[in-house]
Amino acid sequence: MERKCLECGEPLVGRSDKKFCCDMCRNAWHNKIYRNNNAFMTQINNKLAQNRRILEKYYETGETKVSRVLLEEERFDFFYFTSFERNSSGKITYHCYEYSYSPVNSYNFIILRN
Ligand SMILES: [Zn+2]
Repeated sequence: MERKCLECGEPLVGRSDKKFCCDMCRNAWHNKIYRNNNAFMTQINNKLAQNRRILEKYYETGETKVSRVLLEEERFDFFYFTSFERNSSGKITYHCYEYSYSPVNSYNFIILRN
């Protein structure tokens, strides 16, 4: 089987474990991977930061009981949190950095600060 450079697709000659035709291609390929990983992390960090900002906003104004609809209107993304815990009665508390939120029913959440 002909082996090809992972970066430019040129046929490879020499050692069988060779993946790149030259150092330039190796660096270019690794830089691309690194950049993609960074972009992915940045995207998630931004989501978490946005969620935290929303929790902070309502916590600071003393409105610690908020509706799911309100959070959604604020573009809160329920898919992202930093951790969660379930107590012995099965109640889940989600954490977003120093803020926490837990559902009191299907429509409302309570926001807490740790
Ligand atoms: Zn190459």
